[in-house]
Amino acid sequence: MTNRLWHERAAALNIDGRAFINGSRTWAVSEKQFDNISPIDGRSLGSVARCETADVDLAVAAARTAFEDGRWSGQAPAARKRVLIKFADLVLKHSDELALLETLDMGKPIKYSQSVDVNSASNCLRWYGEAIDKIYDEIAPTASDSLALITREPVGVVAAIVPWNYPMLMASWKIAPALAAGNSVILKPSEKSPLTALRLAEIAIEAGIPAGVFNVVPGYGHEAGAALALHMDVDCIGFTGSTKIGKQILQMAGQSNLKRAWTELGGKSANIVCADCPDLDEAVEAAIGSIYFNQGESCNAPSRLFVEASIKDKFLEKALAMMPDFQPGDPLDEATIMGAIVDATQLKSVMGYIDAGNAEGAKLLHGGQQVKLESGGYYVAPTIFDQVNSSMKIAKEEIFGPVLSVITFTDIQDAIRQANDTPFGLQAAIWTADLSTAIKTARALRAGTVHVNQYDGDDITVPFGGYKQSGNGRDKSLHAFDKYTELKTTWIRIR
Ligand code: NAD
Repeated sequence: MTNRLWHERAAALNIDGRAFINGSRTWAVSEKQFDNISPIDGRSLGSVARCETADVDLAVAAARTAFEDGRWSGQAPAARKRVLIKFADLVLKHSDELALLETLDMGKPIKYSQSVDVNSASNCLRWYGEAIDKIYDEIAPTASDSLALITREPVGVVAAIVPWNYPMLMASWKIAPALAAGNSVILKPSEKSPLTALRLAEIAIEAGIPAGVFNVVPGYGHEAGAALALHMDVDCIGFTGSTKIGKQILQMAGQSNLKRAWTELGGKSANIVCADCPDLDEAVEAAIGSIYFNQGESCNAPSRLFVEASIKDKFLEKALAMMPDFQPGDPLDEATIMGAIVDATQLKSVMGYIDAGNAEGAKLLHGGQQVKLESGGYYVAPTIFDQVNSSMKIAKEEIFGPVLSVITFTDIQDAIRQANDTPFGLQAAIWTADLSTAIKTARALRAGTVHVNQYDGDDITVPFGGYKQSGNGRDKSLHAFDKYTELKTTWIRIR
């Protein structure tokens, strides 16, 4: 599709911001709404239902009824599988529309909304659909006069609260395993990017997921989100978002009904490049490509680059040569690889970190300013700070924007110590030609994922999650079923 056509289609889109409860679109009980602003040009995309406790109560009641009467939970895994595969197919069928909604809503380039977000969300639904009828229950090796069955049962009503940076993908990482396992789900998308979640709920019905099984309540975190986290009839909460709110979610789960609570939180990932790195060009491309992907708004962005002092100048020379490619462009232009920052608040926060870097004495090598001001949207130039040290704010806190902090090290022990000197533990990377250094470093890094001589390892088959304050759960892979199922032991006397 040409760029002109993306703009024409955007103008012709019929955007529906109503919630999706018990199989139907509906405004909030209070009739409150909020304005949904596109970061591309600062214009309104329309009104969205501002769900609060009353709406959450309705969604939870619908999900509970659906769960109890077995319209979905009671179906055979093979039947749920067929529906989820159809759901995955329909997501692809609606690919253009979903990609457009995602780009308009949160500013990412249309190229990636299609090739990454829509495709990966569809793949996730398909994969959990395919997996669910291949999981067997167990019989424990107990006494000869009895049988102990260990079965997996859906946990019940699952609330999924997700962030704005990969709205559809983060939603699918929760809803796919939860639905495949037979649960009923209430999804609370971010107030900054609710549109694709709402369309997904309609597509789910088209695929054959019964009404009440998958509900979507858009709204603010402290209203709709907190109502879900505190709800006495929600059995499990899957949360992806900031570490600050993740801590509150765990508290709310504890102070209400002790619902199972799983958190996937922030990061400050370290990318360690040793002087014996096997291919410096590849290391530079991965470092730069990964920090600026999704405008730096990725939980696993390698925002701390630890480079061995002897190769730093060469590394940065190559990195600077790549900068023109990452100048922010029109997100609806298929050639654009860096789009808009999600909203004015996030823009202010990123610019605040850039100010802090300058004030604390880091050397601004590139970027550092807002660009494309004439668009009315929110764009930041790809930014590199050199001469950063681990005590600076830009090295310690998650910026969640296109800002790279470059820190040098003298030996690998020094690099490991600095890399681990953070409350986060989501991802890390080590680049070296020495196998022993690679393995020892990968073992020493306190992170849920460690890459060796790459930064793009990604597959639905492997767990994704963090150590330390990056969270307590794992999305993706078969391990995600552990979050959305209970293990039951049934003893049977053999007479
Ligand atoms: P956020 O914590 O502000 O919000 C996340 C979600 O929680 C949103 O839907 C929000 O409305 C809701 N929320 C906010 N306050 C709430 C409250 N009091 N009670 C209940 N819900 C509440 O995060 P964000 O700004 O949307 O997303 C960015 C963060 O997400 C970053 O820290 C990023 O690293 C993290 N993230 C982590 C992963 C991962 O897999 N570890 C993936 C993507 C994003």
